[in-house]
Order: sequence, then structure tokens, then C-alpha cells
Amino acid sequence: MTSYLKTTPTRDGFFGEYGGAMLPPPLEPHFAEINKAWDQLSKSAAFLEELRSIRKHFQGRPTPISYLHNMSRHLGGAQIYAKREDLNHTGAHKLNHCMAEALLAKYMGKTKIMAETGAGQHGVALATAAAYFGMECEIHMGEIDIEKEAPNVTRMKLLGATVVPVGFGGRSLKEAVDSAFQSYVAQADHALFCIGSVVGPHPFPKMVRDFQSIVGIEAREQFHEMTGQLPDIVAACVGGGSNAMGLFAGFIDEEDVALYGVEPMGTSSNLGDHAATITFGEDGDIHGFRTMLLKDENGEPAPVHTVASGLDYPGVGPEHAHLHRTGRVTYTSANDKEALDAFFALSRDEGIIPALESAHAVAFAIREAPKNPGKSILLNLSGRGDKDIDYVTETFGFGDA
Ligand SMILES: *Cc1c(COP(=O)(O)O)cnc(C)c1O
Repeated sequence: MTSYLKTTPTRDGFFGEYGGAMLPPPLEPHFAEINKAWDQLSKSAAFLEELRSIRKHFQGRPTPISYLHNMSRHLGGAQIYAKREDLNHTGAHKLNHCMAEALLAKYMGKTKIMAETGAGQHGVALATAAAYFGMECEIHMGEIDIEKEAPNVTRMKLLGATVVPVGFGGRSLKEAVDSAFQSYVAQADHALFCIGSVVGPHPFPKMVRDFQSIVGIEAREQFHEMTGQLPDIVAACVGGGSNAMGLFAGFIDEEDVALYGVEPMGTSSNLGDHAATITFGEDGDIHGFRTMLLKDENGEPAPVHTVASGLDYPGVGPEHAHLHRTGRVTYTSANDKEALDAFFALSRDEGIIPALESAHAVAFAIREAPKNPGKSILLNLSGRGDKDIDYVTETFGFGDA
């Protein structure tokens, strides 16, 4: 059943012409070490059994699928279902790859895990994993993001992580990546750098996809058990693309299942107002791999905007660029307003407050359901919206439904 996943990417990490690893020479031996470790551990019964046990007893997996009965009835078209990653421990899908990355670090004999974080979601998930394994955790974060995302900084500190403020340049995510990588080079003998999505140099896009594929494997079985069929349409929001690849992994070999990636269209289609990388981007290199990119007039990664901070990345996972190129996945978008409307609608209709990121997938379902009577839509509810309620209600009130 998993023929696509077994044959893609190539051994060098290429998804068609995208992906690969363009590394500064000091990092080459360390990435070779990670590559070799994952190659071996992905076939190790002990590793896979420990990961299975962590998922069940610590993360609370499997997460359920919910039938969105009120929303489906109101819209009067397709039946809508949601895979509930908001019920995964820490409230989003990110812990799926963070626990596995930390377990990999443990098997590699490392005592420390480290990363950069933008809005703080990846930092919190990684700090959670570090606490579980009794490892040190170092998170680099731009000073501007530290001010904006104070609750996540508090969480990371409570979980025992060291938060390193990054004060140069734009003092945001891009500088945090540079700072974290620099610090990693000096500590790579005892530390593992843990990337937060299906991005970065090989083997991370493949490894993070493999770690997230549990979402799709569970969803396929659960959906079939609930309905006796497979979904007609499967959709997920795409920032870097990890929650989408996780869900798609369960259905990618099923040609009758249509797959949709939903990008953030922000406030307009003008460069700088959105983060719809595949919709408007071109081929390019970022952070050590080849993919599609939003570029400014100098060919540098462009500034991006979306109401969902977890989606604001000018690149995208190389596998998504490839699946766009082959046509297996259709990439579409939802703007800030549609995502906010979906945020309010899901809260009122179903009693589920979604993350603003996940609300983009909900917005897609709201738009498509009326056009698809008799069909079913399965969307990935990648996370819960508790983190967003202050911002949403202070800025937009309580919706006008
Ligand atoms: C980080 C995040 C995303 C975006 O990341 P992907 O790698 O594109 O999945 C989506 N939803 C939630 C809830 C997130 O925290």
C-alpha cells in the first residue's frame, strides 16, 4: 500500500528535483550521522516499539476522527470529518515529530536537543519532549517573537528549556535559524538539531514526514471503520507542510482520494500580504534545500503575512513542491478573513476552537462542501485554538454569526 512513500524521496533526499542537502562543510559529517542513524532506527523493532508506547501512553494516541454533524447539516453538501490532532498532547500535531526526534537523539547517545522557534509552538513541543527524556533543551528565538509570544516563552521555561534571545538583524525567525545553527555546529557531538516541519536539508523532510505519517495511518483506518469507505477529499493547511504530509501519507497511493493543500492567502494576493508559496512562488533554495519560494525583487526570501503565525514561511517542504509538480496534490488557499470565519463557525457549530492555522483547512471545507453533495471531506484539525483566543477576540470580537 505504501509504494509512493517507499520510493520517495531518493537516497539523496530528492523529491523529483526538489529537496537535497546543501550544507556548510562543518555540518556535513553531522548530517551524515543523522542520516545513518535514521536509516538504521527506522528498521529497529526496539525503536519503533518505544515510539508506539510513547504515542499511546504519553501523547494520548490514537486521536479520534469527529464527524462535524452540525456544520455538515448547515452547509448541506459534503459530509465533513476532522482528524483531531488538537487532542494530541500539547494540543497540536507537532509533538508527533518532536517526541520521535528526541527518541532518535536518545538512541544516538545525545544529551541535548535544540532548535529555533518562531511563534514558539515548535519550541514548546520540543521542550516537552526534552523534559520527558530528561535531556537538555536549547531554543533560539528572536527578541521580537519573545515579546509577542510571552505565554509560549513561559511554557518553555516551565518545561526546563533554555530560551536564547536573538537580538541581531530583524530579531525574528530567520535570525533565530542562523543563531541556532551556529550554536549547533559548536555542540553537535552531544546535541541533535530538531527541525520543526518537513523542511531543511535531507533527511529532515523525509524523517519528519515518516514521524507524522501516524496521523494518516490512523485516519485511514478510523475513517473506513466509521463509514465503510475512504474519504473523497482530504485537506490540510500548509505552512512548512508537516501536518499535511502526515495526513496525506495515509491516502497518497489511493488515486480516487483527492488531496488538497491549503495555503494562507493573508490579506491580499500582493507579495508581502500572504504566504501562499506554491500558489505564487518560483523554484529556489532556502535553508539548505531546493524548493519553491516567495522571492523579493532581489531574489531573496520575501516577507510574508498570515493571521496564523505557524504558517508564515516563505518556503515550503520540498515534497509539496514535488507533489504540486506531479499534480498528485492540488494546492489552493484561504485568506485571513475566511480562516477567521471558519474559526468562529467551528467553535459555535461543533464546540471545537481550532488553531488559526487549522482554520484554513476548515475554511476550505466550508467553501467546498456545498459544491460536493454526496461526497465526504476529511480535514486535518492540526491544533487547538486556545493560543489564539486573546488575539482573535481583542482584534475581531466574537464573530457576527
Ligand atoms: C506549526 C503549525 C502548523 C504549520 O506547520 P506544518 O508543518 O505546515 O504542519 C499548522 N497547524 C498548527 C496547529 C501548528 O502549530
